Amino acid sequence: MLRHRSLISLLNNVHRQTCHLRPPSHNLVRTDFLCKFNRCYSKKSGGANDESSNKTPRITPSAATYKSPVDNRGSSSSTSYKECHPGTQKVNSEIQSCNRPNPVSACPPPDCAHEESAAAQARKNNKRLLAAILLTAGTCYTIWKLQPESNKEKIDVKTSRKSAAKSVPVKIPSTSSEIPAHVPYLLVGGGTAGFSAFRAIKSLDAKAKVLILSEEGYLPYMRPPLSKEVWYDPDSEKKDELTFKQWNGSEKSLFYEPEDFYISPKELDENPNGGVAVARGWRVERIDPFKRIAYLEDGHEIKYEKCLLATGAKPKSLNIFSKAPEAIQKHITTFRGIPDYVELNEIVKETDSIAIIGGGFLGSELACALSRRASLENPKLKVYQIFKEPGNMHKVLPEYLSLWTTNKVAKEGVHIIAGSEVQDVKLEGNEVSLMLNDGKKVSVNKVIVAVGVEPNTYLAEKSGLEVDPDCGGFLVNAELEARSHLYAAGDCSCFYDIKFGRRRVEHHDHAVISGRLAGENMVGAGKPYLHQSMFWSDLGPDIGFEAIGIVDSSLPTVAVFAKASEKDSPKAIVAESNDNIRSNLEAQNVSTTSSSPSPVNTQKTSAENTGTDDYGKGIIFYLRDELVVGIVLWNVFRRMTVARQVLKDDRKYDDLNEVAKLFHIFDE
Ligand SMILES: Cc1cc2nc3c(=O)[nH]c(=O)nc-3n(C[C@H](O)[C@H](O)[C@H](O)COP(=O)(O)OP(=O)(O)OC[C@H]3O[C@@H](n4cnc5c(N)ncnc54)[C@H](O)[C@@H]3O)c2cc1C
Repeated sequence: MLRHRSLISLLNNVHRQTCHLRPPSHNLVRTDFLCKFNRCYSKKSGGANDESSNKTPRITPSAATYKSPVDNRGSSSSTSYKECHPGTQKVNSEIQSCNRPNPVSACPPPDCAHEESAAAQARKNNKRLLAAILLTAGTCYTIWKLQPESNKEKIDVKTSRKSAAKSVPVKIPSTSSEIPAHVPYLLVGGGTAGFSAFRAIKSLDAKAKVLILSEEGYLPYMRPPLSKEVWYDPDSEKKDELTFKQWNGSEKSLFYEPEDFYISPKELDENPNGGVAVARGWRVERIDPFKRIAYLEDGHEIKYEKCLLATGAKPKSLNIFSKAPEAIQKHITTFRGIPDYVELNEIVKETDSIAIIGGGFLGSELACALSRRASLENPKLKVYQIFKEPGNMHKVLPEYLSLWTTNKVAKEGVHIIAGSEVQDVKLEGNEVSLMLNDGKKVSVNKVIVAVGVEPNTYLAEKSGLEVDPDCGGFLVNAELEARSHLYAAGDCSCFYDIKFGRRRVEHHDHAVISGRLAGENMVGAGKPYLHQSMFWSDLGPDIGFEAIGIVDSSLPTVAVFAKASEKDSPKAIVAESNDNIRSNLEAQNVSTTSSSPSPVNTQKTSAENTGTDDYGKGIIFYLRDELVVGIVLWNVFRRMTVARQVLKDDRKYDDLNEVAKLFHIFDE
């Protein structure tokens, strides 16, 4: 039954090249809209053979105990896992002082009046001192040696986390001689794609020996909560444990698996049942794809049978900041991982002002999150968000929705400075002053630059690997292979999407699915990547969206909105599913339609226009050559299967209002 309070917005906010930007209108006639849109986009999209990898047959895992949030088909959290605790840090600092004794020459001179006897006394004292130092060092070494292996690793992790953002991560193991020189499966990068690949390998080859090499000093963890949930719970005691409360209040770890899930790299070779080992803080400098050797930064060689590059992406900065003097740079940071979070978490407690540069997902999520946190913990903290576009997430959302969202972000307490760019930066006392292009000046203690990322393809040139000149990223074929026996997945890969052509996607679901497929192919599945990945973004517990396909606001869009209720929010969906990773919900989804939508004659369906701007929930269709190429589900959840089907059908719809009904947005 339809309870209409729907609003059709026919929008053709075309920014690109010869196309004009038109103000949003709810009353545009369809013919006008289509003819404009034909002028702009002549390229036709390819066939519609899209097929979710969920449908591909899978060998039943013999080691069926693996279950983690990275898997679309199930989730588990490791709430009891405590990677670091205060006790271990104390022990660690003691060990460090033992390992670095003062040299004898640095000892103070003996306190004696007579020269000759003073010299003899000094020699005697030096000997005693040396003996004492050796004894202490020896005792410390013995104590350290007697500790169980796992304790040593925990201590190091704590150090790496405490040493915060910009310091070099602690290496675990500390020496490359403990890293195997030969492994069947080598995964370069311990992020989501790497971890997902491990699970796939293990599910097809139960005794597989998998080595993950990660430049970060952490076990594999998820990034999405770092700009969302972690900030909404001011319980600073818990912060140290790297757990967070999901929107429904239940606690979860950032880590995919607890430490005891992994085996140590030096045990990997010997273990008859295989397993996964993570060498943390170790960077691969180069690959020889012909000899199948990965070279670590210290020259250590690891021969592999199959290797995956899952090196992810790194944040970009702006010249104005990266070229600034060091004194200014101390106030500037980017935001990508746990060390950035740990550092910022300390800063928000006491600082007066933070500016976030960038209006995209990360900038907008962080702005809302920090502002909410300020209201809970540090009311004097002012959060600014500065970006050059007119509204938040303007590159994705149609202009009217972007502006509406900006209003919402401002209501969260964020001081939005839209349409502005930083032209100069100066240090004034303990603040940096950002001089904007309109002459305004904003002075803050900390600046977070959130202006996008670039793929981590550092090792491409040295390894003779091809990087896509347009998208960046290791160029891979449909099986995600860059070279024989060498694969790439996740943010760092540029793959061939049979529907939309060459693409690089920087989202969680893509990392999970492409990582999984690469893992399966490393075991010999030989399957192509046909998945159309989704992504999500939450501006706190009340507003969120999910999207699929090409969601580019420079495309014409058609949107259908309905009145939202309390159940149409990220918080409500997490309460229902108990899973903050939205892409996990799709597999549990109950499809709301068993058949694909039929084309509807426009003449018979008139759009109801409420004339309001209540964009509570809705469906936004992105069109290219009259075909739906992207869909945003605005505060609409558990409908991704329907969206996927609409994209897959690759049909021209006469009335998208009717298609929107398939998403049941008018149901109460
Ligand atoms: C704060 C934040 C919030 C996000 N929120 C969302 C969200 O809500 N929804 C969504 O869909 N997506 C979100 N994303 C994006 C998503 O997290 C990424 O797309 C995903 O993490 C990519 O996974 P990956 O494994 O490809 O790369 P990464 O997670 O970047 O992992 C790559 C790893 O490889 C390591 N590495 C790099 N080079 C080397 C080398 N040479 N040797 C050894 N190791 C190396 C890196 O240090 C890193 O640990 C968010 C990202 C961030 C940062």
